[in-house]
Amino acid sequence: MKLHQVMTNVFLVEGIASNWVLVRDGRDLTLIDAGYPKDIDGLVASVAQLGHRIEDIRGVLITHAHVDHIGAIPALLARHAVPTYAGEHELPMLEGERHEQATTWDVISRCWRPRVAKWAVTIARAGARTSIQLPETRALQADSRLDLPGAPRAAACPGHTSGHTAYLLGETGIVVTGDALITGHSIVARTGPQLVPAFFSHAPAQMNAGLDALARLDADTVLPGHGPVWRGPLTTAIEQARN
Ligand SMILES: [Zn+2]
Repeated sequence: MKLHQVMTNVFLVEGIASNWVLVRDGRDLTLIDAGYPKDIDGLVASVAQLGHRIEDIRGVLITHAHVDHIGAIPALLARHAVPTYAGEHELPMLEGERHEQATTWDVISRCWRPRVAKWAVTIARAGARTSIQLPETRALQADSRLDLPGAPRAAACPGHTSGHTAYLLGETGIVVTGDALITGHSIVARTGPQLVPAFFSHAPAQMNAGLDALARLDADTVLPGHGPVWRGPLTTAIEQARN
């Protein structure tokens, strides 16, 4: 776990192979995404590094229902019952009714590439094959504002998954983009704003639609689901990702 301060009260945390975000307001925290199942210790440690306890978390926002973003939430809920929220069209996946995640075979069939093979071992150890269900998750309509630390606003950006949602943090100009827009990934050499490798996406052809939705947001700092913080106009990041 590696914690990066983005702004006074906003932190991007690098987990085993994905990121989560902590937003602070006084004694209260909002958590956005939560890494793989084995990231639970790192999650607790990241909260402790801010001088907080997991009981300070007032709500958990989900960008999308993939195991690298919701993996540690059940272990968190077992210790601290807190509401979870996701875009309304992501709920069938969180309820286990539908799946929009790359299969083990999708990964194994690409393991002839050394980067993929190494990453596949890492994520298998992190609990990538665990099936996570969060049926109590509350549905967010597009554009809803939440009464949580950081005043997050949900922005639907379907593409990577049907209910993929980004979160704008109040008036900070910070947007948490999940996997609609990333800035690096263990299995690709390229860094900078980009789309996730196509085989992870439920509907690769719709990935650009996700970018179109993001393009309507006014932001100048990107906190992605994979890769480092990116600072600059969101429109520039989106242009780079389209290339
Ligand atoms: Zn991801």
